[in-house]
Amino acid sequence: HADAALYYAKDKGRNNYQFYSVSLSAKNPELLTLEKSLRYALERNEFTLYYQPRVNIATEEITGMEALLRWQHPEMGLVAPSVFIPLVEESGLIVPIGEWVLRTACIQNKIWQDAGFPPITMAVNLSLKQFCQPKLVETIATVLEQTGLEPQFLELEIMETTAIENLDFTRTVLEDLQQMGVYISIDDFGTGHSSLSRLQLLPLHNLKIDKSFIQYLTQDAKVAHIIKAIVTLGHSLGLKLIAEGVEKEEELEFLKSINCEDVQGFLFYRPLSVQKATEILESKRPTL
Ligand code: C2E
Ligand code: MG
Ligand code: MG
Ligand code: MG
Repeated sequence: HADAALYYAKDKGRNNYQFYSVSLSAKNPELLTLEKSLRYALERNEFTLYYQPRVNIATEEITGMEALLRWQHPEMGLVAPSVFIPLVEESGLIVPIGEWVLRTACIQNKIWQDAGFPPITMAVNLSLKQFCQPKLVETIATVLEQTGLEPQFLELEIMETTAIENLDFTRTVLEDLQQMGVYISIDDFGTGHSSLSRLQLLPLHNLKIDKSFIQYLTQDAKVAHIIKAIVTLGHSLGLKLIAEGVEKEEELEFLKSINCEDVQGFLFYRPLSVQKATEILESKRPTL
């Protein structure tokens, strides 16, 4: 996230947003090569989505899937988003790629619904640059219309750091999205050093606790107190809590004891190919 080396500033007088990026690729020839191949990756169909199920702790039912972008590079194999998202963000390629992600994820959710699986939400990540695109709301409306997915089955994840860049701007965009009927989550909560009291002005549905907290949960008693405080405060603001990066049974037990609603993590499922994700849904299909 921070390594995106993206600096964002607001021209206060004119309410004008501008991006200042420190070029990542200029310094590193390997990254420059990577950035060049990324320019063609979309037209060469090298992107694919993986889907990670989100599970309700109480019922152990799948309540949603998060679409996670992967790059199938002809020589390098499957490239993780942490490697290429900063590059596509920097170059502006994130906008067309992000639209492809949104459309593909909506189509997939519609396919699953049409196949008769119980409806779930599809969560799609939005980067800072995508979120600040003037046409974002219009694009989302168009994609929903074209794919036929009802808005309540789409959830948009924006990182805490994106949300707090400019709260007035964030609120305007989120209010439009809320009116449209899509769900909004704050992703990686706890990494942005903001307080929930600042976020309470925003129309939000879900709060995703960053995986770094869960990682230290069983090692550091203070972390458990912090997570408990986040859950309590989140609930008092009417939000649903989702814990990311749950890998251990112990973590799940603790999250259950503090009434965290959902978890996403390797303990239940890793991000899955569309075939694997479909198989999982198939295996859970209620028998009539
Ligand atoms: P994120 O949105 O917070 O997604 C969750 C990340 O945590 C995923 O990494 C997932 O594989 C990983 N994860 C889930 N459960 C566990 C666990 O139990 N243990 C561990 N160690 N990790 C777990 P991934 O797929 O590598 O994605 C990394 C980040 O890249 C995402 O973090 C998101 O910020 C970004 N990203 C992924 N896809 C997209 C996309 O389509 N658009 C944008 N703008 N960003 C994306
Ligand atoms: Mg996410
Ligand atoms: Mg996250
Ligand atoms: Mg993350």
